[in-house]
Amino acid sequence: MENKLKFYNTLSRKVETVIPNEDGKIAMYTCGPTVYHFAHIGNLRSYIMEDVLEKTLRYLGYDVKRVMNITDVGHLSSDADTGEDKMLKGAKREHKTVMEIAKFYTDKFFEDCEKLNIKKPDVVEPATNCIDDFIHMIEVLLEKGYAYQAGGNVYFDTSKLEDYYVFSSQSEKELLVGVRDDVEEDANKKNKNDFVLWFTKSKFEDQALKWDSPWGTGYPGWHIECSCISMKHLGEYMDIHCGGVDNIFPHHTNEIAQSESYTGHKWCNYWFHVQYLNDKSGKMSKSKGDFLTVSLLEEKGYDPVVYRMFCLQSHYRKPLEFSYEALDNVKSAYVKLIKRIQELKEDGTVEQEKFQEYKERFENELCNDLNTAMAITVVYDLLKADMNDATKRALMEDFDRVLSLNLLTATVEEANTGVDAEMEAYILQMIEERKAAKKEKNFARADEIRDTLLEKGIILEDTREGVKWKKA
Ligand code: AMP
Ligand code: ZN
Repeated sequence: MENKLKFYNTLSRKVETVIPNEDGKIAMYTCGPTVYHFAHIGNLRSYIMEDVLEKTLRYLGYDVKRVMNITDVGHLSSDADTGEDKMLKGAKREHKTVMEIAKFYTDKFFEDCEKLNIKKPDVVEPATNCIDDFIHMIEVLLEKGYAYQAGGNVYFDTSKLEDYYVFSSQSEKELLVGVRDDVEEDANKKNKNDFVLWFTKSKFEDQALKWDSPWGTGYPGWHIECSCISMKHLGEYMDIHCGGVDNIFPHHTNEIAQSESYTGHKWCNYWFHVQYLNDKSGKMSKSKGDFLTVSLLEEKGYDPVVYRMFCLQSHYRKPLEFSYEALDNVKSAYVKLIKRIQELKEDGTVEQEKFQEYKERFENELCNDLNTAMAITVVYDLLKADMNDATKRALMEDFDRVLSLNLLTATVEEANTGVDAEMEAYILQMIEERKAAKKEKNFARADEIRDTLLEKGIILEDTREGVKWKKA
């Protein structure tokens, strides 16, 4: 098939046409979340844009297999293998076991994804499922001389590689971005950037999950999981690997070091990285404590799909600053868009030539380094275009395979309030009941209704124009 999609490959530092290893097939891997807390909307920006990439590939006709890991062990507070295990931190915070925390936040993550219309990857694999695979890869790396034991841990020896800094256009400063909370150096390391493959000794002796290994009871490092999990499901050759830009160093650099030392050949051809979502104080991150979640946006009355559109209107390679003002602008644009689409009539037959013309325009925008903002412009253009409503509706349905903005299914109410039709009907019914109760001077019942709605996050306001409701 014809390969048309181009995007910026961090590895070659060029916008390149994606040519898969096997014609028509794409092996794609995404670094999954560390499930010790809710995902913030910054994390979800990365997953939204990766979802658009996957759906674009499918739209173009590729057979995509996408794999995602779930990090439920081994990710320490600093990406440079120091500090406390993030999962343990979460368990302590909530007085639960690590596995309870992992299950709870994995489920929450996929609930958020569903609300944002992010497709679940074909394979989702928690790291704790694959301990034997990690041990095997570490054994091979030791045998081949790429790893060494020191102070009870096993380390990868970065000095054994000719080109460890594969993403080397990154300046030293940028390379340090991934080392979030840089703590003290580990004296066991032979070289500054050596990293842990297997821990048996860490400062935090109360590590909850441990497994037997040839090097003693312990737990895997963070980076090894992605090398192993991707190979387990995609084999030794991969087409596209995705993540946020903070994954470039050290995580993805270390994944390449391990995987290529293990196989002895090039591993992944294309690296797709999404820039940060920032707030006023800089990069949104979980360690800052106060972070924005999808639930919070919903509580404030936003349909999560509005946040998806907010992300799509900006290029994935540019930092994006979040503000409620900016989100409000997108919300009103989305409501207007849905209103206009709803006005389209359902009769008539599709005008094939026009359909193809606009489909091609849409495809070209996406193929041009995933220009989602311009792809949305095509949606607006077609609404103004000289073609019948049936063609317009057919195009909306077709484009929504990638955009996933519920273009044909959203109601104006939903777009406006983030409340679905069933909930809205319930609220309106309760308002009517309250009116009747008041008329009968049954104020206790009226108050009860107000309280019941408040518990569901809905506030009633008595205004001169009647009763109004809003999300709490
Ligand atoms: P984590 O759960 O910390 O392992 O991160 C999950 C994903 O979110 C990774 O791909 C990160 O690179 C990405 N990520 C983290 N912070 C941000 C941010 N502020 N904006 C965009 N992506 C981010
Ligand atoms: Zn990874």
